[in-house]
Amino acid sequence: MTRARVVLAALVLLLFASSAHAADKAVVTWHPSKPRIGDVAWLLVKDVAEAATVEGSVDGKPLTFFPYAGGHAALFGIDLEMKPGTHAWRVGVVEPGREPRSAQGSVKIVRRDFHVERLTVPNTMVDLDPETERRAVAEGKQLAALYRTITPERMWRGKFTAPVGTNGTGKGFGARRIINGQPRSPHSGSDFSAPKGTPVVAANAGKVALVAEFFFPGRLVILDHGLGLYTAYFHLDTTAVNEGERVERGQTLGTVGATGRATGPHLHFGAQVAGARIDPTTLLGLALID
Ligand SMILES: [Zn+2]
Repeated sequence: MTRARVVLAALVLLLFASSAHAADKAVVTWHPSKPRIGDVAWLLVKDVAEAATVEGSVDGKPLTFFPYAGGHAALFGIDLEMKPGTHAWRVGVVEPGREPRSAQGSVKIVRRDFHVERLTVPNTMVDLDPETERRAVAEGKQLAALYRTITPERMWRGKFTAPVGTNGTGKGFGARRIINGQPRSPHSGSDFSAPKGTPVVAANAGKVALVAEFFFPGRLVILDHGLGLYTAYFHLDTTAVNEGERVERGQTLGTVGATGRATGPHLHFGAQVAGARIDPTTLLGLALID
């Protein structure tokens, strides 16, 4: 090799090294890699110190990260009415003593077909008088505002547990509902049939965010698990917890009933992540446990 060639090779190497450095990429994995509508998915940003600041978004909607497995993870809820197909995500990492890192890409959201469910309920539960209509709308807004509130502390740990100890999983998540012949909003939870009086337990640790009696949900308990994750328990006959109370996974919240708009005793179990309505039964299989 001539001297000029050696110098050139060294320069190329140097350029290569510095450009690789400038493009220092964060390593991000999605779980599952192709989530479905209604799933609770999660992203892991690998090799990030606990003290680092990690931020990111999907479709411009912010994610909330927490230290996990030598990196930082965030839940991403895929709302039951999100469009299937590719959605853009990005992540940024600022870590003391290291160059800032970032990554971006797209995730493919797989479609899921929901069945159509025809229900017949008393007309007073569908054709509301103006006062009841106002009440139901106000209650809906109160719930939506609560679900958008992000408590910065992560309270959930380990595996999620089924909210009632019956055989079989919940049913009907995402069903496009036709009630008394009129199309209504899709079913945002999963129904567990169980006899009246069956204990209903907390799916994981959290804080009681709301205990109320609302028109459609009936007697209800909502748990805040932190970082934007909430679980909801509707149509209860009785409640056994108070707002603000901390609860452990498996702790009794109340009993199964048929309060509100219910065709019979059952638990309506719901879950949201940053306002996205997810299939709560996918929480039970969440592979992110510690
Ligand atoms: Zn339901």
